Amino acid sequence: MFSAIYIESEVRHHPRAREILARHRDLPHIECERHGEIFNRKSQNFRLQKEQPALILARKHGRKVLPAPAGYGFDAAASHYFSHMLNCVYDCRYCFLQGMYRSAHCVLFVNYEDFTESIRQTIAAGPGHQVFYSGYDCDSLALEPVSGFASHFIPFFAQHPGATLELRTKSTQVASLLRLRPIPNCVIAMSFTPAVAAARWEHGVPSIEKRLAALGRLQRAGWPVALRFEPLLPDQSPRAHEELFGWIFSQLDAGRLHSVSTGEFRMPADYFRNTLKLYPDEPLFARETQTAGGVVTFRPSRRDSWLEQVESSLFRHIDPARYYRCAN
Ligand code: SF4
Repeated sequence: MFSAIYIESEVRHHPRAREILARHRDLPHIECERHGEIFNRKSQNFRLQKEQPALILARKHGRKVLPAPAGYGFDAAASHYFSHMLNCVYDCRYCFLQGMYRSAHCVLFVNYEDFTESIRQTIAAGPGHQVFYSGYDCDSLALEPVSGFASHFIPFFAQHPGATLELRTKSTQVASLLRLRPIPNCVIAMSFTPAVAAARWEHGVPSIEKRLAALGRLQRAGWPVALRFEPLLPDQSPRAHEELFGWIFSQLDAGRLHSVSTGEFRMPADYFRNTLKLYPDEPLFARETQTAGGVVTFRPSRRDSWLEQVESSLFRHIDPARYYRCAN
């Protein structure tokens, strides 16, 4: 999966880094001072790097818990996100990460204890119930066998039932979750697009069938699971969504879903420009766009009726009370 492992000197002896290095003796280990030397270097070829990215083990400095963007999640409660990783091993053509970072390498911050301490302080500062999202700058579970992320953070949230953790993912790496006792305040949210879109734009992502099988196993084991239908693209037929919904709800118990959301394609304008430079011939981006508030969306020709058709087909399977439109 990775071509090499870079290690910041200051985490060289961190137990988590040592364990990862010991399990990957076959890869070159290269020490560096700061991950930015590798990750933020100018004139990198993102597309070439994506073929064989490196893993960078680093320490996260500064703020570890940030306010979630407005409209990002399911709860009106105070919401935050945290990123133990930057970048993703998958390669979805619509993903904003490819426009956000110069590098296709993956950074893994190994100082999990500092993240959990920041989360603990945020919970203690209140007020009330709070939600923490993981999977904003990465996929939460795609690297689980290497990172042991869920194995560390879920036991922490088990001790903090007054807060909820949402793991957003397209990964089938659920073995570590299945070994743990399910907790009601950890939601595993799996993203899906219709089969045609998945085949065309979700490179390296496990098939819908496999994702669904993994999510079904989690639900049957007692984990709260959620569905995220993103990004909706205006030229995907409502029929394609109907088929996807029929498939999904033949496998999952809709009555036990935590939540279901949809979200249209959106990307900050500067990331969109960078992505266009990377993939100038990509038909996905040949659509007419519009920019509002610094965010690019595809111009809808028939948005309202189309979105309503998608939603009404969804509501044939789920209780609308569990549904929200993601606004960010
Ligand atoms: S799985 Fe998510 S984070 Fe990874 S490339 Fe696809 S959209 Fe981006």
